Amino acid sequence: MSGLSSDLFAEIMIFDESVPETDRNRIHQALDDIEHHGDRFHKRVSRFIRSSDLNVYLGTAKNVGGSGSVRLADQWGARRAVGSGGLAMFDAAAYVRLNIARETIDTGGQRGIEGTFVHEGKHAMDFAMMLATFSSAAEEKIFNPTAFQRELSAHLTSAFYLRLRGGEYAEEGIGLGLLEVRQGELSVSTSGIRKRLAQNYGLTPETPGRTLDTASFPRIRPAGKRWFGLF
Ligand SMILES: [Zn+2]
Repeated sequence: MSGLSSDLFAEIMIFDESVPETDRNRIHQALDDIEHHGDRFHKRVSRFIRSSDLNVYLGTAKNVGGSGSVRLADQWGARRAVGSGGLAMFDAAAYVRLNIARETIDTGGQRGIEGTFVHEGKHAMDFAMMLATFSSAAEEKIFNPTAFQRELSAHLTSAFYLRLRGGEYAEEGIGLGLLEVRQGELSVSTSGIRKRLAQNYGLTPETPGRTLDTASFPRIRPAGKRWFGLF
């Protein structure tokens, strides 16, 4: 069954030409594994990556800015699409690009690919949801998390995945401070994650960083704002 679904997804998923065929197969394998081992949310992340219009790129860690990253693929296009309204989340993904580093695949192996897609996949969903809610022009629906909120949720997503995956995945989670053994049980470490966010990113509830709409230039504005001054 999983072979069948992979073939199906292989036709839908959008890879940039920077991603060679062998790496595409490894990425599909990682997404299969995320769906197989993850919880309901991890399955959603995997399906979002595969069946939305999200673009997947491959580059050096230097260009990607780490093991992986997410940014808008087409900033002016995104702004136009938001401005014309009614943008669905899966369609909004067309303006979002998920980058994975060559080094992640070569040195991190399947574990590195899975970890990167779980974490960056959550970030990609945040971008698409931000664009979709901004296009709805309903202020109460606006999704515009701070950098602290985005990293906290992406780290939690990774932590729960590493815990479910067990073995060397769990050991990596413990090493990163995402997991801890409490009373003999492997648990997600919220305090470890917060410590990591503070130390590695300078992000705390008091210093939450910028909101997602400012994470690109030009800044994304809610639909209608320019015309009616609603917000
Ligand atoms: Zn992140």
